[in-house]
Amino acid sequence: MDIEREWNEQRETMVRRDLRDRGIQDVRVLTAMSMVPRHRFVPPEYQYEAYADAPLPIGGEQTISQPYMVALMTEALRLTGGERVLEIGTGSGYQTAVLAEMGADVWTIERSATLSVNADVLLQSLGYESIQCFELDGTLGLPSEAPFDRILATGSLPDVPKSLLGQLIEDGIFVGPIGSWYSQELVRIVYHANQFKRDVLCACRFVPLIGEDGWQH
Ligand code: SAH
Repeated sequence: MDIEREWNEQRETMVRRDLRDRGIQDVRVLTAMSMVPRHRFVPPEYQYEAYADAPLPIGGEQTISQPYMVALMTEALRLTGGERVLEIGTGSGYQTAVLAEMGADVWTIERSATLSVNADVLLQSLGYESIQCFELDGTLGLPSEAPFDRILATGSLPDVPKSLLGQLIEDGIFVGPIGSWYSQELVRIVYHANQFKRDVLCACRFVPLIGEDGWQH
C-alpha cells in the first residue's frame, strides 16, 4: 500500500478510536485532527508510533503532546473560526497546526531556538499561512500582539500568570495545565464582566514552562 494512504488510514483510526470514541464531540476538532499529518511532527525514529495515543520525545527533553490531550485542549477553547490565539510552547508545532486547521490566527511562542525554527520551517512547508512563530519566554505572553481571544499553555505553570490573563479580551478563554512540577489539572478560565471563572477539565501531566512568570529552573 502506498505510504501516504497508510498514514491516512492510521490517522482516521486514531481520530475514531482515541478521540471520538473517548468523548471528543466537537466535529470541527475531529476534522482538524484528521487533517494534520502528525507523523511529520515527530522525529523519524518515532514515526511508526505517530498515530498511537501517546506523547513522544521531540528532543531537548520535550515532548509532542498526546493526541487525546491536544483534542481536549482544542475543544476546551471553543473555537468557531477567526479567533486570535496565543499558544505558549510551540514544541513540534503539532498543536499549532491543529489550531490553524480550526480557522484560528495563531501566534505561537517557544523558548528553545531549535524547536522554534524547526516548527516554523515545517509549518511553512505544510502551507500554514495563519501561524507566526516567536522564539521568546511565553510566560509573559505577547504584549505587542495582545489582546487575544484565546490563550493556550501547552506546558505546565505553577499558577496562571497575571501577565497572561491581562492579555485576554472580554469573553476570552485561557486553557492550560496548572499545578505542581509533577502533576497538574487542566484548567479553563473564562474572562467575563471583570471576573475570571475557572473550571477544571481533568488531571494531567505536562512538561514545565520555564520562564519569568513560570517555573524558575
Ligand atoms: N504543543 C507542543 C507541546 C510542547 S511541550 C507539541 O504538541 O509539540 C512544551 C513546550 O514548551 C516545549 O517545547 C518547551 O521547550 C516549551 N517551553 C518551556 N518553557 C517555555 C516558555 N517560557 N516559553 C515558551 N515555550 C516554553
